[in-house]
Amino acid sequence: MAQEGRPLIDIHAAAEFLAGGQKRVRTLLGGMLTAGKLPSSLLFTGPEGSGKELMALHLAGMINCEKPGHQIEDRCAACEKLSTLEYPDLHLIYAIPSGPPEKSIPVVIESRREDFLSAGEFGGRARSIGIGQVRTITEKVSRQPFEGKRTLVILCEAHLATIEAQNAFLKLLEEPPASTILILVTEFTDRLLPTIRSRCQEVRFDFLPEETIAGFLETFYSVEKNESKKLAAMAAGSIRRAIRLLDKRFLDMRNDAVSILRMILEGKARKLPAEAEAAAREYSREETGQLFGEMISVLRDLMRMKEDGLDESGRQRLEHHLGGAAIDAAAGRDVPADIRKIETATRNLGRNVDIELTLTQLMLDLAGKWY
Ligand SMILES: [Zn+2]
Repeated sequence: MAQEGRPLIDIHAAAEFLAGGQKRVRTLLGGMLTAGKLPSSLLFTGPEGSGKELMALHLAGMINCEKPGHQIEDRCAACEKLSTLEYPDLHLIYAIPSGPPEKSIPVVIESRREDFLSAGEFGGRARSIGIGQVRTITEKVSRQPFEGKRTLVILCEAHLATIEAQNAFLKLLEEPPASTILILVTEFTDRLLPTIRSRCQEVRFDFLPEETIAGFLETFYSVEKNESKKLAAMAAGSIRRAIRLLDKRFLDMRNDAVSILRMILEGKARKLPAEAEAAAREYSREETGQLFGEMISVLRDLMRMKEDGLDESGRQRLEHHLGGAAIDAAAGRDVPADIRKIETATRNLGRNVDIELTLTQLMLDLAGKWY
């Protein structure tokens, strides 16, 4: 638990640490900033958990820092305020459940302050970014910056913005107030209006290196060195995934993902509707997405094994999880097609399709029993 009034992880420090794992992006942004050529609209894309939102905050620090190059312990007032998300020229737009935003927005901000990398405060409830939220921010940024050099607007999980909200944001992109920088963050760029994409300079993030993830777990979550290395290897480039792996519930969910996949591969289709129902009862929308992510990660290992690209420990892990029968049954499968089906189901979850329906359809489709 966080100490009273103190965040679990220091956002400014965390942003700086992860930016060190995205050297190419950091150099690119730093270069544009130094040359006075930072575009007013940026689109941060790339895999989940690659530190896109934290890089946006890191950029806010680079722009508005009053003592560039200072140490974390000796930071300026601007960076101090950024680290608690209280910087007046920083506007974060988050997806929220339906209902009055003035109720749910403080919940999100409070949970981000406590642990920036957590995002499960609304459980399975469908979330979106509404036009009202965009209008409120537009009004705020039409005034001059209060304290800093530039105002920053960060549209987090931009793919969850409704079409109306995207159109309202497009107006802001077309005529941004003079000192404002707009950053859209999403791994699903195909769900943004083409007109939005064409207005933004796209910045692609890479998977985070294992050593960055291990170091992050040691520094911010007090994980021991051996453990952090193991978790970083399992995290496959995602800091969010690494943090989830610290959680017993996630490990249970991972086991569920493996057992469902095993049933599918072994052709036990009759058991699947009950499995889907149980999983839908157990897991939130976000967790179901993670369940799909785990299924994909096991299938990727399976694919690598087929191509003879899996090392000995990976092979043992896979055999231990799936068992020989399932692996043999998978020999004739089109695994990339399976992965694409799971990716489509993941996108459907993001589109607020019913969780149980998504699970049932996917499982039966993968098992080849579609009725
Ligand atoms: Zn500073």
